[in-house]
Amino acid sequence: MILNFGNCKDITKNGSTDVKLFFWLCFIDKKWRSLFLAGYNLTIQFNYCIKIFPMKTANKRVFTFIGTLVFIGLVFYQCSQESETTYQKIKAYADEIKVINTHEHQHWPEEYGDLNYRLFHLIHSSYLMSDIVSAGGQQFDMSHLDSLSLEKYWDANGEALDYTRNTSYYSHFIKGFRKLYDFDDLYFTESNIHDLSGQIEENYADYRAWFDEAFQRAGFELMFLDQYWKPFNTDVEEKYYALVFHINPLVMQVSNKPSEGSDLPELYKRAEDDGFAISSLDDYLEYCDHLFRKNIESKVVCVKNSLAYSRSLDFEEVPYDVARALFDRSSAGLSRRESKQIQDFVFHWIIQKSVKYDLPIQIHTGYLAGNGNTLDNGKPVKLNNLFLKYPDAKFVLFHGGYPWTGEYAAFGKMFPNVYLDLVWLPQISREEAIHAIDEMFDCVPYNKFFWGGDCAFIEESTGSLEYGKEVVAEVLSKRVERGLLTEDVAFDMVQRIFRENAIEVFNLEERLAREF
Ligand SMILES: [Zn+2]
Repeated sequence: MILNFGNCKDITKNGSTDVKLFFWLCFIDKKWRSLFLAGYNLTIQFNYCIKIFPMKTANKRVFTFIGTLVFIGLVFYQCSQESETTYQKIKAYADEIKVINTHEHQHWPEEYGDLNYRLFHLIHSSYLMSDIVSAGGQQFDMSHLDSLSLEKYWDANGEALDYTRNTSYYSHFIKGFRKLYDFDDLYFTESNIHDLSGQIEENYADYRAWFDEAFQRAGFELMFLDQYWKPFNTDVEEKYYALVFHINPLVMQVSNKPSEGSDLPELYKRAEDDGFAISSLDDYLEYCDHLFRKNIESKVVCVKNSLAYSRSLDFEEVPYDVARALFDRSSAGLSRRESKQIQDFVFHWIIQKSVKYDLPIQIHTGYLAGNGNTLDNGKPVKLNNLFLKYPDAKFVLFHGGYPWTGEYAAFGKMFPNVYLDLVWLPQISREEAIHAIDEMFDCVPYNKFFWGGDCAFIEESTGSLEYGKEVVAEVLSKRVERGLLTEDVAFDMVQRIFRENAIEVFNLEERLAREF
């Protein structure tokens, strides 16, 4: 805003009131002070013009009226121009992107049984539940929740729920309701949950219609669906989902070969149903290859390994002969080390098949959801040998490797074939995500990042997306303000992280050209 300094002096000449006013102006916000002085300046010059040009009183009034409108317009324009911060500009840009969400576990409600969905069913299928348990609350069976009134539930878990109001699990979860529902509060309370729960009940009476509406409103274009709870299903609704091949059973069940008369583990049962007899390691691998091809027929976009939930991410190289001899023995007689060896062999085989079929490999690293597990299982550095051995494979590491975010970032920097998916990191800890993503942006090229939601229902995915965009916008805006980035590059980074990188790395161009 340009100020005529000569007229500023006039302010002080006009007497003690103006001097006092000018003094008090020193204490108000710089932007408003500039606007006030500019307005004062314009008014003085305008009055001066009216005085020196001869015109009728009526014309002077019209002239003054028009001048006032122009002045008010200018002030509003100036306010709107100056009030948008870098953060707001980046967040607004992110809000316009049709997001490719690279990791979800979305369920249809009927998969949990015939339930009457209310707020507490959604809490119990969210990450927040593990914070409630951690705070001393109770985990109820989903069907048992149906028989509980909201009051009874609040009596049981209200206090523990209140103790989680500080966590990112809580705040990302509530954000979904703030975005999609008529709900503006920062916290759930005993009194505000009734209306919200009623709205949920209404929406879940026709969840397909609600899902479709919420999916659009949240800004999603496509979700990668990892169905860990039914890993052999290849039938997904392509309007919303891209299929992910969840390979945990292939790795874990190789060391769980059925013995005479025992129940068949799922993979062996499926093989029998599909007409495959498994009596050797070669038979086992042939059936695994059949599963690969079946997934490819259903347009699978990647494979997913979340083995850190049940074992270490250290996969040693095991020769074929050793693996074959281990498979030929009774699984019950294998030591823990021997079971791990044959599993390791199968995961190496899966990597080789993924290279052959050009499928990226998503790997859970770091923190484990739920309550109680072996944190060390998911340490990213355990994967180092795989990155060296398979330069043609595309590895996508999940979750920022939290709490080992530094070594996670280092792999994205060191290896051209290692990508970093920020999925779930902001929900685990918003502040750690801000710190870690800032560090990652310092050292890893931005064509190597993705974002995913990792949730069971659309409300939590929506909250996760809002959270993810806020975190990325916060990191980028600070970097722009520090002069480390220009705004146009920050916009490009947002576009890349939430959409373009996934299209490129997972070969989605053809899929996105589809019409429904
Ligand atoms: Zn997941």
